[in-house]
Amino acid sequence: MENEIPRSGIFAVSAPSGTGKTTLNSRLERNNPDVEISVSLTTRKQRPGEIAGKHYHFVDRSEFEENVAADNMLEWAEVFGNLYGTSKAEVERITTKGHKVILEIDVQGWMTAKPKLPGALSIFILPPSMIDLWHRLEKRGTDSPEVRWRRFQAARDEIAAGRIYDYFIVNDDLERAYNELEAIIVSGKPGHTSQGAGEALCERLLNEFEQSHKILELKKIHQKI
Ligand code: 5GP
Repeated sequence: MENEIPRSGIFAVSAPSGTGKTTLNSRLERNNPDVEISVSLTTRKQRPGEIAGKHYHFVDRSEFEENVAADNMLEWAEVFGNLYGTSKAEVERITTKGHKVILEIDVQGWMTAKPKLPGALSIFILPPSMIDLWHRLEKRGTDSPEVRWRRFQAARDEIAAGRIYDYFIVNDDLERAYNELEAIIVSGKPGHTSQGAGEALCERLLNEFEQSHKILELKKIHQKI
């Protein structure tokens, strides 16, 4: 089954939560009829405004586990206590139409899927700085302080694994980030961020997480919660 998945036209896009990945991918999908975001299965509860079958296929844990047992999943992972995964059938549905497919998956998911999809390209979207990411998570206002801190720490761990990606985009300016994403996926002409530069960016963000005074203050506050 794995060998039947076409090996090109597949793009994994990952980003720490709060980095603007969904906004960028949705805009790319809207503007390009031959680009589709793969609809994942999840056990997480549907949020207001989300449409079943469009944003996710919402399933319970037993249905999800049946799909895993039946070897229907290309990859899956547990993210913040919920299961998320990409079915092989969904990727085939899109690629057999000749469309490009975006896998909006987390870093663990891409680690699993990468060896199965040797022709796929991967893109990691990064915040301009860790403190900027913290402010974006605060602005969203949807999470409790504990959850926000957990997401922030998870972002650090994801960035630490960033070197497995082919391309890096810094989302400091939405227009520029969008143009870079479009250049990679639609035009096949990636911008300037080489893999070496991307790794250096990840390194800089990790150093900031460990050393910035503002983040050390946040750590003191949140470790008490
Ligand atoms: P959210 O609950 O905010 O929609 O997504 C939470 C996280 O789950 C995001 O990092 C998103 O990329 C990840 N995610 C969504 N779908 C999948 C999937 O099919 N597989 C994996 N591994 N992660 C996913």
